[in-house]
Amino acid sequence: MLGLMQSQPLLISGLIEFAERHNGDAEIVSRRVEGDVHRYTYRDAAKRSRQVANALDGLKLAFSDRVATLAWNGYRHFELYYGVSGSGRVLHTINPRLHRDQIAWIANHAEDQVLFFDLSFLPLVQAVHARCTSIKHYIAMCDEDKLPKDSGVPNLISYEKLIAAQSSDYSWPSFDENTASSMCYTSGTTGNPKAALYSHRSSTLHAYAAALPDVMNLSARDSVLPVVPMFHVNAWGIPYSAALTGCKLVFPGPALDGKSVYELIESEGVTFAAGVPTVWQMLLGHMKPANLRFSKLKRTVIGGSACPPAMITAFQDDYKVEVLHAWGMTEMSPLGTLCTLKNKHDALPEAEKMKIRLKQGRAIYGVDLKIVDAGGKELPWDGTTFGDLHVKGPWIVREYFKGEGGDPLVNGWFPTGDVGTIDADGYLQITDRSKDVIKSGGEWISSIDVENIAVAHPAVAMAACIGVAHPKWDERPIIAVAKKPGMDVSRDELLKFYEGKTAKWQIPDDVVFVDAIPLGATGKILKTRLREMLKDYKLPTA
Ligand code: AMP
Repeated sequence: MLGLMQSQPLLISGLIEFAERHNGDAEIVSRRVEGDVHRYTYRDAAKRSRQVANALDGLKLAFSDRVATLAWNGYRHFELYYGVSGSGRVLHTINPRLHRDQIAWIANHAEDQVLFFDLSFLPLVQAVHARCTSIKHYIAMCDEDKLPKDSGVPNLISYEKLIAAQSSDYSWPSFDENTASSMCYTSGTTGNPKAALYSHRSSTLHAYAAALPDVMNLSARDSVLPVVPMFHVNAWGIPYSAALTGCKLVFPGPALDGKSVYELIESEGVTFAAGVPTVWQMLLGHMKPANLRFSKLKRTVIGGSACPPAMITAFQDDYKVEVLHAWGMTEMSPLGTLCTLKNKHDALPEAEKMKIRLKQGRAIYGVDLKIVDAGGKELPWDGTTFGDLHVKGPWIVREYFKGEGGDPLVNGWFPTGDVGTIDADGYLQITDRSKDVIKSGGEWISSIDVENIAVAHPAVAMAACIGVAHPKWDERPIIAVAKKPGMDVSRDELLKFYEGKTAKWQIPDDVVFVDAIPLGATGKILKTRLREMLKDYKLPTA
């Protein structure tokens, strides 16, 4: 017997319709590429999203055609999130930090038909358009009077001219909720990039889950700043969760330096912000010397890379901001776990609570986790046994776009490539990417633990730990360190700093000072490049 409740597909258009009807006057504030601050409401955004949908019809785009963006976080990008997906096309957000060859490759692989771009990416578009053979229309996300003349980009029109000509009357179409809504390429370190293809259903369920109290705890009382880019995994789904809750949205545009982010947080009364550790490092780096304080910021979700303990402590003790450590990946839309304490932890001493907060957190409803050994056998949740982390759930990939890479699942579970422990309360702790694990004398050393201690040193800006071959121990860790400008620390001082903070055999054998730690397009440490940089390195003890 079937239930007798109404059946409505979970569609992304439903989120913006809801926002318009129920929280229409809530604000969306954007720092623009033009440098000024733009303000309007969900009501305005909904209207312009419908104009975008009409414009795409006018460009004769078919259902499921891919529409690409090269854009920062801002209101026009937000309108595309809804206008493109809501009308049944697939939004392909391209990461502008990728190499040009990769951008051309993925635009062709996705068979993008249209490219919308912020003017700051004009040089990039000029460099790649001749190689992007499927793109028929180029739309610069600007006013008509800002449209560059003689740019060399074919069929270039301005966003404002395109949508001004359109009616705001548009009935969002209804279709199967499993229809593709957006896509994001993940830059694997080997082989070509592969795309996660999200659906309306997966994105809506993820938006619901992300807003839960033990996740981002979003509400109409919040002012939310997604510093995480809309060009990478849908800014962790915040543009969808925001429309669902009716919170105020604050978009930082291209200005991600500490000063600009701080000013926006203060001027817009931001209560909740989301970003990767490097962005927060710039923010704290700006605030500390000037002795600045937050007036409204209460919570920040930090993920994408391990959040160093020193950062969690600084936010909590110096600025009274709660850090929610999160873990996820492109293939997971991206949220998998988020760290909040349970009721039973209330009575714990602060130091014990902090030990929990440093972990990547508990699974969000919708995601199941397990750790397995090399033979695929599930390992115990004891907080100490390491294993390969496998996940499953309705917003986790089943297959990559165009079947690239074959069937990624193992018995229905997606192998994340991460290694971690899970404790008896279900808290996950990521210790490494599986290819970065350091095996020393039959034991595993977590490179994240080794890095976390180094970055707690006041003179260290960034640190990356890799394993180096050793005749006796198989591998030993060394730590590559970039110092903060104007600060100094010697090799011996840093090695001494490890004493008492970790087991002796987990202390790195050496420190290598580098000008900068190589980072990839999503801000993560590129250990492959670091290994190349240090290929002639020899351990002092080996
Ligand atoms: P991406 O798909 O580019 O977003 O990268 C996902 C990967 O980033 C994960 O598989 C992890 O290796 C890493 N990652 C994300 N969040 C965290 C975190 N909180 N701690 C450690 N690693 C993380």
